[in-house]
Amino acid sequence: MNVKSIELDFFRNYVHLDCAFSPDVNVIYGENAQGKTNLLEAVAYLSTASSHRARYDRELIQFGVGSGFIKAQVFSRERDFTLEARLARGARRQLFSNGVRLKTAGELAGILNTVLFCPEDLSLIRDGAAARRRFLDDCICQLRPRYAAALAEYRRLYEHKTRILRDWEEKPSLLDTLDEFSLRMAQTGAILIHYRAHFIRRLKDHAPAIHADFSGGREILSLSYETVKTVTDPEAPAREILPQLLAHQESHRRAELESRQCLSGPHKDDLTVLLDGISAKDYASQGQTRTAALSLKLGCREIFQQETGEWPVLLLDDVLSELDHRRQEFVLNRISGGQVFITCCEDDTVQGLDQGTAFHIHGGKVVGG
Ligand code: ATP
Ligand code: MG
Repeated sequence: MNVKSIELDFFRNYVHLDCAFSPDVNVIYGENAQGKTNLLEAVAYLSTASSHRARYDRELIQFGVGSGFIKAQVFSRERDFTLEARLARGARRQLFSNGVRLKTAGELAGILNTVLFCPEDLSLIRDGAAARRRFLDDCICQLRPRYAAALAEYRRLYEHKTRILRDWEEKPSLLDTLDEFSLRMAQTGAILIHYRAHFIRRLKDHAPAIHADFSGGREILSLSYETVKTVTDPEAPAREILPQLLAHQESHRRAELESRQCLSGPHKDDLTVLLDGISAKDYASQGQTRTAALSLKLGCREIFQQETGEWPVLLLDDVLSELDHRRQEFVLNRISGGQVFITCCEDDTVQGLDQGTAFHIHGGKVVGG
């Protein structure tokens, strides 16, 4: 799939933009604060009707203006689509596909898949387990609706059980329902573990190979899934995982009551990332951190491609800084298959580009190539 062209009206710092793209690599370059990230954000918005950095849709509309839109010609599943998001202050956004109004953002699913890498994604390597769980959840939710449903249910149960554990001393009758919530959390949790384990196995088939290539064969990335200790085989069917989760809950029952927190379950899962056998979180350099985070995202992109038969559009925001020449060359020329958008600051990196098209952005306008 690819974005053939985009039209923006009063979107962020773009008054109006009409721009056609290459189906291969598009390098978006320019000085700071000119609109490079905004352009990627516009493309990503048409994929999920949400922005990775705006809390509210109104932030996307140009300051001092009442409404704006993002419109794109997209080629997907052997067909042409016109996708449009109309944004207006004080009103809900409206989404259209080929002129037909969509009832929900869910109806956009599968038309334009994107994988976005932005500077915040370095947290995937640097931060605590929550950042990696979010990555896993985002990827698996897009591929498996059943997982998305189980995750929503698990979160609801977790919040409820947390409230029981927090308030039981003041209100002992709450304990009557504790076992019921624990059981349902274990049932739903077993489903999450099963799906996560399978996704991570597939990620292991892709991400380490990408990282090896990216680093010129210098570094070995390894991944492992850390879940509830009593689970012997996380890839087993959920019904086999369930009794193991219940056993863990049982042994932590007293500790949960005393600490007033949910201590047992896959809400504590992690995806451990090692570089040459040592923890990337604790020891990776800036360039290694970026390489590893990007390898995870690119691994996810390959899994999407296998699942859907089409490459998702890859959006790389500010990925080149901190990378040495070899690694920059990998990003610019060796990510094969599918359409790629890369933003960068210096125009000299554009010299290293063998294929594709460059766009110079200045003040919310394309001023050259
Ligand atoms: P950098 O290289 O620093 O990452 P960039 O080219 O990616 O820069 P953007 O994040 O795209 O820059 O932002 C460009 C400008 O858009 C910023 O100066 C910002 O103030 C402006 N901007 C953001 N939202 C709006 C809005 N709603 N209306 C008008 N301008 C906006
Ligand atoms: Mg930017």
